[in-house]
Amino acid sequence: MNNHFQFTLAALIVILNLSSQAGLARPALPNDVRWVRNSTEYKSLCDYVFRKAAESVQVQMDLYASTGSKEKKQGFAAVVDLDETVLDNSLYQVERWKAGLGFTQASWSSWVKRKEAKLISGAKSFLDTVRNEGVQIVFLSNRMNQNLKPTQENLLKLDVLKPKDIFLLRQNKLDTKEKRRAEVLEGRGRMEKFGPLNVIVYLGDQMGDFPQEHSAEIGRKYFLLPNPMYGKW
Ligand SMILES: [Mg+2]
Repeated sequence: MNNHFQFTLAALIVILNLSSQAGLARPALPNDVRWVRNSTEYKSLCDYVFRKAAESVQVQMDLYASTGSKEKKQGFAAVVDLDETVLDNSLYQVERWKAGLGFTQASWSSWVKRKEAKLISGAKSFLDTVRNEGVQIVFLSNRMNQNLKPTQENLLKLDVLKPKDIFLLRQNKLDTKEKRRAEVLEGRGRMEKFGPLNVIVYLGDQMGDFPQEHSAEIGRKYFLLPNPMYGKW
């Protein structure tokens, strides 16, 4: 074995050793979080769902206009979930995983207060289209109502908040999404000053974001964003 070959071999062993140590020090993220954070597939699916939802709003509003109604476009609404629908909280998932910890209400609340959630791809374009069509946006989320301010500030930072937007966050355990959806449709409770609204689309990442499960309305009136990171499954 000549000296040159010995040196090359030794260098190769050092490089292999270092790269395997680096691999050990930084194991890959779990597939679900990695898919959300890194894949073009996830981004493309979100863009696709939002594009279809926007088209549905436009078709429904065009249909309304074609009925010859001279009335202002009033009383139409899009009910939109926040987490993993408009707001990307995958960094929270990364941090919890790195710390070897799971979800807790306290850690979630401090994450919400940091206002560092990112925007889900396609959300802004959808929300702009809905507003241009004169359709009321109702953000209906299980974020706690006491975190309304940091939630709105986070949305403002992402340029997706308008003064007209309505927020129906969770007040307590009994304040289910079902209850809040009924308030929107019937103009009751928190929605009394707005009157009953005709909800033309619902957007969410969980079946619980829609009035019915297993519905043929998926892709028509209900638009489902992918979320492999958490859910009641
Ligand atoms: Mg959600």
